Amino acid sequence: MNHEPQKVLVADDDAMNRQVLAELLKPEYTVLLAKNGEQALERAQRHAPDLVLLDVMMPDMDGYEVLRRLRADPHTAASAVIFVSGMDRPEDEANGLMMGAADYIAKPFNATVVMARVALHLQLVRQRRMLERLANIDGLTELANRRRFDEVYATEWQRARTTGAPLSLALLDVDAFKQYNDRYGHPAGDRVLRALARAVTACLRRPADLAARYGGEEVVLLLPDTDAVQARALMDQVGSAVAALQIPHAASHVASTLTVSIGGATLGASAFETAEDLFAAADRHLYQAKQDGRNRVVWRAPA
Ligand code: GH3
Ligand code: MG
Ligand code: MG
Repeated sequence: MNHEPQKVLVADDDAMNRQVLAELLKPEYTVLLAKNGEQALERAQRHAPDLVLLDVMMPDMDGYEVLRRLRADPHTAASAVIFVSGMDRPEDEANGLMMGAADYIAKPFNATVVMARVALHLQLVRQRRMLERLANIDGLTELANRRRFDEVYATEWQRARTTGAPLSLALLDVDAFKQYNDRYGHPAGDRVLRALARAVTACLRRPADLAARYGGEEVVLLLPDTDAVQARALMDQVGSAVAALQIPHAASHVASTLTVSIGGATLGASAFETAEDLFAAADRHLYQAKQDGRNRVVWRAPA
């Protein structure tokens, strides 16, 4: 497998140390440098390094504080940290590891050992990322899976309730998909689900927008900070994007090509008590879209 080079951030107030480590790492990794704690945090935020080689004793903000702040920020919490320190007493090392560092290297260090430990921890980071991906992504469509959706929905619901920002939720269901499978075969149906996932994803603009596979041929769309008018317009675009795929569906009673029905609701336009209530409203509207003849979007406040 061909991987992008992994990113290693070296944070040390000593220019010589930075240079030595940079020279060592450069042939294999993308190296970022920081000369103090502040810079280390800024670089970590911006580049999300896989690994941070972190000096403990630095003026202003020491390595312990940097590690604490890296962990507290979701953007940087996943980076592995190795302390590289002149403090070489066993209790220093134990303390560093207890704070959550992956490893502890005492200065002066041996280049070969540093490289071996860096390689080991980068491999662990890669494996952890792969497992996280497997746990959150639907294998067929590569959309987020139901598990991931549940997690994000809970967070976004809480945020919307706290801030008063609107939150829109839409359910998309393929029309006459059983007939599609019956007519063209299950593998062709799988390809349709993949194409559908790509088309839906391409319609989403904001980083916080989420499309997840909710069930067999159902996709749920979560649109934070999106009011009913914006969400409805976006779902019309999704419907058009699916139509533009022009997937022949000779067995459909709706149209000659594949269509979808979409139901949605918005927290803000209506006051929902719970996340389940908002979801249920979107589901009712999906049912209504099916009843009204399919190949349409239904989005309105409950009566
Ligand atoms: P409606 O217009 O009312 O939504 O009709 P429908 O046929 O789409 O609805 P129904 O829920 O009866 O059928 C859904 C079908 O989706 C049945 C199932 O075989 C198919 N399906 C679910 N998951 C997959 C999948 O992963 N791959 C394929 N190929 N088909 C799937
Ligand atoms: Mg269905
Ligand atoms: Mg269906």
